[in-house]
Amino acid sequence: LILSDLAKTYKDGTEAVRGISFEVADKEAVFLLGPSGAGKTTTLRLIAGLEDADGGSVHISGRDLTRAAPRDRNVAMVYDKHSLFPHLTVYENLAYPLRIRRLARAEEKQRIDAVASVLQIEEQLAKMPAQLSGGQQQRVAIGRALVRDADIFLLDEPISHLDAKLRARMRVEFKRLQHDFDATMLYVSHDQLEAMTMADRIVLIDKGKVVQIDRPQDIFDRPRSMFAATFIGEPAMNTIPVKLTGTNGTLWLEIGTSLVPAPEGWGARLGGGHELESFVLGVRPQHLQVADPTMRADDVVHGEVYAVETLGSRVVFDIELGGQIVRVMSSVDEARKVPHAIGAAISIRLDSDFFYLFDKASGETRLQAKFTEAGAH
Ligand code: ADP
Ligand code: MG
Repeated sequence: LILSDLAKTYKDGTEAVRGISFEVADKEAVFLLGPSGAGKTTTLRLIAGLEDADGGSVHISGRDLTRAAPRDRNVAMVYDKHSLFPHLTVYENLAYPLRIRRLARAEEKQRIDAVASVLQIEEQLAKMPAQLSGGQQQRVAIGRALVRDADIFLLDEPISHLDAKLRARMRVEFKRLQHDFDATMLYVSHDQLEAMTMADRIVLIDKGKVVQIDRPQDIFDRPRSMFAATFIGEPAMNTIPVKLTGTNGTLWLEIGTSLVPAPEGWGARLGGGHELESFVLGVRPQHLQVADPTMRADDVVHGEVYAVETLGSRVVFDIELGGQIVRVMSSVDEARKVPHAIGAAISIRLDSDFFYLFDKASGETRLQAKFTEAGAH
């Protein structure tokens, strides 16, 4: 699948998709990830031919299908469970797309059994949709797309309505399914965890435009913007407005009322002549440490406990620092050594190896300490 500069403005003037380009290679699982309203569903509908593009093109398996009718595109789209035929059994629902294509009955049964087994709905094949739980119905809807031998599978948040436990299971199953069926898949989600765990590559979009295209670990390590940095990762990366002071060579970050040394080389890399105040420091909660409030050191800043969340295996501290909240993810052992009471004095130890610096106005990543922008793999 190749999308070039695809665009769609709805009749009411909403610019849903504003020039989106990316490719999905054969047998690849690409995730179209972005917040609600970003234009994900519209993009899928343009690929399936359910909406007409105002600009750009859609190529599937080497053919220009931009103006082709939906039935001529050989794409399989997963709709939600409400699209099941209520008067047909689960088996008949799964068989429906195959009968349209006049598949031999023996192969039909073989494919349905394979899909039913992976989706764990073998016991449900003789039942009617109304006799199934919501999660089972959703799996039938997914199965109905997967039984087909489509050029590409388009999935629009297929598991977002399932309960948390089943969702976690389905994340793993989808990965297997895609592998076992050698499927080419474009999967839409607003859930960064789904994208991180399941994608070969992520296409991150916002407001109808591509923000970044990368493999999951690369987008996490080397976000090109504050948007990408804060959208990927849980808990989200902290973004702290900072003032930079000092001259080339020795640069300090003013955080709240504290001065912290900037990572080595940042002064030289930023150069002179910049508006040194308009930056935002980014650092992930797992790269910060809570510290005893009496601790004094260059890399320690002082705040107050705003709230503490116990996760069982980890503890997340929300710490008020110079009028804003900074989140710190700590181990249970480390958490025991510091105050938990709301309002108590507490300190944060910073590790400048994991600092990111964003341009305040554009939101672009200017510098990062540990992973070079060059991104050598
Ligand atoms: P997503 O799936 O990422 O949440 P959508 O593609 O559904 O986003 O929507 C993108 C934008 O287009 C939103 O602002 C939405 O309100 C708007 N939109 C979606 N469908 C229509 C439509 N049929 N008519 C007008 N605006 C629409
Ligand atoms: Mg949508």
